[in-house]
Amino acid sequence: MRIDLHAHSTASDGTDTPEQLMAAAAAAGLDVIAITDHDSTRGWDEAACGLPAGLTVVRGTELSCAHHGESVDGAPGRRTSLHMLAYLFDPTAQAFIDERIRLREDRRRRGREIVDRMIADGLPITWERVSELAGDGAVGRPHMARVLVEQGVVTSVNEAFDKYLRDSSRYFVDKADTDVFAAIALTLAAGGVPVFAHPFARRRGRVVSEAVIADLAAAGLAGIEVDHPDHVPEDRDALRAIAANLGLIATGSSDYHGTNKTTPLAAELTAPDQYERLLGAATSPTRPLVGAASA
Ligand code: AMP
Ligand code: FE
Ligand code: FE
Ligand code: ZN
Repeated sequence: MRIDLHAHSTASDGTDTPEQLMAAAAAAGLDVIAITDHDSTRGWDEAACGLPAGLTVVRGTELSCAHHGESVDGAPGRRTSLHMLAYLFDPTAQAFIDERIRLREDRRRRGREIVDRMIADGLPITWERVSELAGDGAVGRPHMARVLVEQGVVTSVNEAFDKYLRDSSRYFVDKADTDVFAAIALTLAAGGVPVFAHPFARRRGRVVSEAVIADLAAAGLAGIEVDHPDHVPEDRDALRAIAANLGLIATGSSDYHGTNKTTPLAAELTAPDQYERLLGAATSPTRPLVGAASA
């Protein structure tokens, strides 16, 4: 069984439509693929309709979250950005829907602000084009990166991040996020399974400690992504040990984004026993779907 539990489509910042993503997963020899767009379930229906025979899709999302450290002497606690995957939750759970809408609307506000800052500096980018690329999906920095590539300002999405879109860039604007404990609670209340995405992706900024992961586990976190393209071997070893210590499910995933990133589907995989644990943890009516064999 070849299982990849984290991939993006045009419902957020991937470049394959949900149907193309399912076809690509089958072509990559996967048995199970998860669709986990940022702050959105918009790709779920199309993925279900376009499902190749024998391929299983696990429907989920990836939420932008923040962890706030304990405040010391009245000073605010240290804030760390992180991503939480939520699998197999009930997409009609209203509180969770409201939170996803809040996050997506703020992505648009923030996207406009980044574009305005770039325009003020003379960069050839427009909100209209960014918005067109994003369609009705969640807007993200990769959409802006693609406009800069189209305009010949840079030659790749990666270069656009390095030069203009990284967190420390003068054009960077923060977006709304969900407190990580609230994200776990919303996921559990909707019958879903919360898994901490790329916990030690240090290239993206500060990461949380093992003690914080223990706090999240106590709050109901079900698993952590161990094998991820942004994790070096030592971090994978450390995360595998943390998962074992805390009784957490250990997953592996490509975090595929189509041509917005260089990692192919199935670059990292989840062990079948860990996948079974994840299925066992879900309590909502949302089940994995299997593509029917054509007649
Ligand atoms: P945003 O969600 O708008 O804050 O943008 C973050 C997203 O940009 C991540 O989910 C990745 O998909 C993507 N990303 C971050 N860094 C890079 C990079 N260096 N090259 C390509 N994509 C990146
Ligand atoms: Fe992304
Ligand atoms: Fe992520
Ligand atoms: Zn992702």
